[in-house]
Amino acid sequence: MTNEDNLRWLEHIADVLHENAAYLTQLDSPIGDADHGVNMDRGFKAVRDKFPSMAEMDISTQLKTVGMTLVSTVGGASGPLYGTAFLRAGTAVAGKGELDTADIVAMLEAFLGGIVARGKANPGEKTMVDALTPAVNTAKQALAEGVTAKELAQRAAQAAEEGMKATVPLLATKGRASYLGERSIGHQDPGATSSWLILRGLAETL
Ligand code: ADP
Ligand code: MG
Repeated sequence: MTNEDNLRWLEHIADVLHENAAYLTQLDSPIGDADHGVNMDRGFKAVRDKFPSMAEMDISTQLKTVGMTLVSTVGGASGPLYGTAFLRAGTAVAGKGELDTADIVAMLEAFLGGIVARGKANPGEKTMVDALTPAVNTAKQALAEGVTAKELAQRAAQAAEEGMKATVPLLATKGRASYLGERSIGHQDPGATSSWLILRGLAETL
């Protein structure tokens, strides 16, 4: 994975989050404040403005630029969470000209680590962590099996999708949805959904 591939992934994320902004916001309306799509779209619009200057950056700097941009432009919980995720992902691949499958797994693990460090959610609390944790575990397994980067990303995205769907029956105990208590049950978590879109974007890019 080159810095050009990484930039294509980031462009793809910006497109997909824009196309799905209404959907993500709709998911955030029964169990939140109906702004997740708006938040993600705003953040990645600001990232999009930086794409021209990002072509010359290495992968680490590109990811850190995304992280800093999200932290400074997204007001909701998702801004600092994804911001920290991209910052940590960038740190994990510092100095790498290209990423091999092990580097991609390290990047994904750091991405999840950033969200957990920032939000302190455990699996099963109906958050992004519920899509990302199975994705990272599946990616590690795929790495051990020696599959290609594309196959690894596809399997990770599939695991994220299953994790996302599995948030429906969960009771939210973190973030805004937790204020609803039992009424949070029966709805798919918006953040788990954007996490799936981000990982599916990686698989599609590769
Ligand atoms: P806000 O909740 O401030 O309106 P968003 O609507 O953009 O922010 O994002 C909501 C999403 O953030 C939730 O669907 C959930 O996945 C995620 N989230 C909230 N709190 C946490 C947390 N502590 N850890 C991980 N993810 C969280
Ligand atoms: Mg919200």
